[in-house]
Amino acid sequence: MADTLNGTVALVTGASSGIGEATAVDLARHGAAVALVARRRDRLDALAGRIGDAGGTALVIEADVADESAVGAAVARTVAELGRLDTVVANAGVMLLGPVADAPTEEWRRMVNLNVLGLMYTAHAALPHLLAAAEDGPRGVGDLVLVSSVAGRVARNGSGVYNATKHAVGAFGEALRQEVTQRHVRVALVEPGAVDTELAGHNRPEIMPSLEARFADMERLEAIDIAEAVSFVVTRPRRTAINEVLVRPTEQQ
Ligand code: NDP
Repeated sequence: MADTLNGTVALVTGASSGIGEATAVDLARHGAAVALVARRRDRLDALAGRIGDAGGTALVIEADVADESAVGAAVARTVAELGRLDTVVANAGVMLLGPVADAPTEEWRRMVNLNVLGLMYTAHAALPHLLAAAEDGPRGVGDLVLVSSVAGRVARNGSGVYNATKHAVGAFGEALRQEVTQRHVRVALVEPGAVDTELAGHNRPEIMPSLEARFADMERLEAIDIAEAVSFVVTRPRRTAINEVLVRPTEQQ
């Protein structure tokens, strides 16, 4: 039986589209008040409207997760306006693929700054509040969900730096899990396979044909499939920590 999230507060980075958007909606459906963090304010405002219309509570925070001070301010504002912080989903990410040779290294910096450092800043800023939630929160736990990827488990020709960032997420998450688990902060890694979102669309035009060909004959996951995995993880009873969830489309090898 799942625990309710009534009385808890969640923060989701990358909530303006795809997995983050679906996760914010699903956490609100389970009763959490949700802070929505991303850069596209219009998208966040529309999402907050939908959550509000369904009877939930949402706080819009326009922030660049690659900016440490902006992440700190987002967490502080969440606690100031919603009163506490029990659940964090560090989801914001970018996937820029292609061979290492001749790659525009600006793409590497974008991925490392967001997928690795941004996720670490999020964890760092949230941790004191998650520890406080574990001590005296409504459920006696804090939850930190790190959105990695199947690319964090298996490296592929053409995904080198994206692979490196997602492998880093796994290493960071496991070390942090060991650091805080006895204080009832649960650190979970969620690793999606191919999901139908805007993620691939940020690649250079010359990369797109091979990317599209890879998934042409496959029924990809929908964002809700990952959102439901996240909700499952964070609604477990206090004694149960789901450390890692790998979710692939059935047809993905
Ligand atoms: P989307 O592109 O749909 O969503 C990415 C989200 O990240 C958007 O909300 C975007 O918002 C946000 N974001 C991007 N840059 C920043 C930034 N600098 N600061 C704050 N927010 C930012 O992709 P997905 O939903 O698919 O991706 C979510 C996560 O899932 C990523 O970590 C991705 O690596 C992972 N993943 C996705 C898979 C897939 O097949 N789709 C597979 C495996 C993992 P905005 O632009 O408004 O800032």
